[in-house]
Amino acid sequence: MQRLSKLCFGTLTMSPLQQNFSAEEASALMEYALSKGINFFDTAEIYESYDLFKEFLSRVDSREDVFISTKCYAYDKKTAETSLTLALESMDTPYVDLMLLHEQEGEHTLRGHQEALEYFSLMKEEGKVRHLGLSTHYVAGVLAGADHPLIEVIHPIINKIGLGIVDGTVEEMVSAIDYAKKKGKFIFAMKALAGGHLLKNYREALDFALALPIDSLAIGMQSKEEIDANVEAVLHGKTPQRSVDKRRRLVIDPYCIGCGQCVNRCQQKALSLEDGKAVVNPDRCVLCSYCVGACQDFYIKVI
Ligand code: SF4
Ligand code: SF4
Repeated sequence: MQRLSKLCFGTLTMSPLQQNFSAEEASALMEYALSKGINFFDTAEIYESYDLFKEFLSRVDSREDVFISTKCYAYDKKTAETSLTLALESMDTPYVDLMLLHEQEGEHTLRGHQEALEYFSLMKEEGKVRHLGLSTHYVAGVLAGADHPLIEVIHPIINKIGLGIVDGTVEEMVSAIDYAKKKGKFIFAMKALAGGHLLKNYREALDFALALPIDSLAIGMQSKEEIDANVEAVLHGKTPQRSVDKRRRLVIDPYCIGCGQCVNRCQQKALSLEDGKAVVNPDRCVLCSYCVGACQDFYIKVI
């Protein structure tokens, strides 16, 4: 694995699932991040933001200067081929640095994706994928990845209050991360700020995550101020004076027809139906935006 910045730019925040930046706006921000020492960028097929990366990659001096991680739900050869082709063509790049199997829950789900993994592994030999891994909100997902020979990278959720861990406690997730690290996996963690819940304890939240055996920390950003603050805090170990992050929130349009699709999609049980409309419990929401993609009528969004 090339040398990656300890801070990874989570780009969900700029995608159509959240702020819906233009390719020019997003690229300018990613170029700024690169100039500040961030060379690791995280996206996903579901974010529908490959066009932002196409613009960004057209502007960097060398493709080798940046490392792009993406995620997909492929489970067999056909779906894996479709996902990889989409990533390569939409970003106009000859290779993806890291392909993650999105939302893996444990040994059984990983086994169900074995054919996709084997296809991606073949594509490594062809130079179209450089590394393979999984993303997970589950302790069991981390443990399954740790024991899988084709998985090199694990992208787990972890924060000091354990928000978003679906099947266990903070201690259990820390122990699973420890185990995965000992098995030689590269770990880049997500949601250290618990979807904004820990912004008031920003330094403590980051210190907790950075004390774990992780290689990088993905944080969603959408302004130069946020990049500056997170670079100062994560790369230089300082405590920024100014506000570090805008508190984002989930909103549901009053036109919601109460179909329940978003409720079913939310792993965190943060959504429910009341009087025929979806309502969110903000205390449980980690702003992952999965529900946003589930609403065909675009009645739910993160702002
Ligand atoms: S998916 Fe959309 S329309 Fe259906 S309950 Fe959720 S917000 Fe409402
Ligand atoms: S309500 Fe939506 S954004 Fe919040 S945790 Fe659930 S799926 Fe994620």
